[in-house]
Amino acid sequence: MYHTPNTTYTIYVPTFLDDVLLSQMLITDLNAELLKKNWLTPELVREIESCFPTKEEISNTSEGDNIRDLDAFKAKAAKLLPHGRIFVSFKQLDQVSKMFLDAWAINKVHAAKRISCFYSPSLNKICQVHDDPVKRRKVDPSVKLLYKCPFQIRYSFMKYSKDPSKKKPNIFYRIKISGVNYEHTCQLSTVFHRESKQKNGTLQPNLNGLNDIIGLLREKPNLKPDLLRPLLLKYIPYYKAIDAKFIRNFRQSYSLDHPPIR
Ligand SMILES: [Zn+2]
Repeated sequence: MYHTPNTTYTIYVPTFLDDVLLSQMLITDLNAELLKKNWLTPELVREIESCFPTKEEISNTSEGDNIRDLDAFKAKAAKLLPHGRIFVSFKQLDQVSKMFLDAWAINKVHAAKRISCFYSPSLNKICQVHDDPVKRRKVDPSVKLLYKCPFQIRYSFMKYSKDPSKKKPNIFYRIKISGVNYEHTCQLSTVFHRESKQKNGTLQPNLNGLNDIIGLLREKPNLKPDLLRPLLLKYIPYYKAIDAKFIRNFRQSYSLDHPPIR
């Protein structure tokens, strides 16, 4: 329901909500029940579908990958998930985001009042890095840190009671989108999507090989991308879609901020 930008958006209230709220269930059971529900009303589903990529917005590469147009994504994300839009629960926003982002080949991550992209650095990254700060940069294995994808939808709970006697489980609060960044530095492609869905184990690059490349980059910081690409492919073989952005990020992570050793 869009009249002009910055007008109010329809809040879609699922029909089950009244019944559930009027039931005599314990609040903990109610919470469990509501977390399992499908919060997408038919109107909301229609709206999400209207924001799916069109055929023209998906290009097919000769390697059999399908890449979605980033500008088209940004325009549609701004339509569906604008700053200030209200959803009836965080679960509803979660389900809207999942349906929308899946269509754009983005694997949604939801944590700490934030919807982000799989290729964003995790908030709990701290516990995974090396204890020794000298080794930390060298052995960072995560593709998340290579892409540092900035996409995010942040939200806040509305009329949230801090008073413990009045506090309800989070599912009972409406939420409002409080911050957005529609940019992606990852690729909105089928290959990236598939890789992000794989189990963590397969996402770990071969570290010994990567360290060799990092060593090489330190010695030859201007190594040409067409030489760097096959080396990276060798050690990150499941990344068939290593593109210029990846190479640039890789180079920045490992060489430009470290002057070459002379
Ligand atoms: Zn991304």
